Amino acid sequence: MKKIEKICINCPAGCHLEIAVDDNKISVSGNRCPKGKSYGESEITDPRRTVTAAVLVKSDKRCCIPVKSSAPLPVKLIPALLKKLYSMTVGLPIRHGDVIIKNFSGTAIDIIAAGEMLNSDFPSEKNLQLSETELI
Ligand code: SF4
Repeated sequence: MKKIEKICINCPAGCHLEIAVDDNKISVSGNRCPKGKSYGESEITDPRRTVTAAVLVKSDKRCCIPVKSSAPLPVKLIPALLKKLYSMTVGLPIRHGDVIIKNFSGTAIDIIAAGEMLNSDFPSEKNLQLSETELI
């Protein structure tokens, strides 16, 4: 029997799980709710994570836009996804939820914009300066 310790990441309680694997049988202990059991089992059979990252935008004024996976992605595919994201540049405008990569690696999981950038303008200097009356 093989025993693995993991911390459940489904909520801030962070239960310490002990996952026992014996042939094809997986048992989980230390969880305070059923989510911990399914998390522990999936860590053995098909570990997945929601991926967040940033992608460069085509602009000489703005840097990048946050993106995330539309669903948890198999952990083994994350390095390839990050390599692709960090080597690409996207054009503006981008709206929240726009698909940046469709059906990544045949998983039916999209990479979507987690922010909005309609143009490359910074806020004008006028908007950034506070008047004396606003400072009081
Ligand atoms: S097992 Fe349940 S209570 Fe514990 S961290 Fe996971 S989701 Fe939270």
